[in-house]
Amino acid sequence: MFEKLQELLKNSQSKYYHFPVACILECDDGSCFQGVNVETSSPNAGICAERNALFQALACGKKKENFKRIYLYSLSKKNILPCYICRQALIDYCDMDLEIITYGQDQTIEKYRLGDLCCHSFSEENLS
Ligand SMILES: [Zn+2]
Repeated sequence: MFEKLQELLKNSQSKYYHFPVACILECDDGSCFQGVNVETSSPNAGICAERNALFQALACGKKKENFKRIYLYSLSKKNILPCYICRQALIDYCDMDLEIITYGQDQTIEKYRLGDLCCHSFSEENLS
């Protein structure tokens, strides 16, 4: 998976802030959806790699129960985790048992569970 992430990272559009990120979302049937971050001159118009992958999967008809894990990679010295905007999107469209596996520059692997990163979160239950 690390090699796939390294290759995918080349597609990141990160000319403004120079922070390329690659994400692969794996589903229960083995299918994978790839995302990279897309930076724009106005920061709010861009998108993170995690939401890019998630929204592609949703557009292809995948559902919450299909999502098993996401793999993340950047060139950061410290393994990255989803930002809080992405965490909100993941909470709304993935199970809290979603695995989040991050690779560091040196292939150091860290594993998390979405629920562990997002305890006491806002969700659709709050809208009722
Ligand atoms: Zn994000």
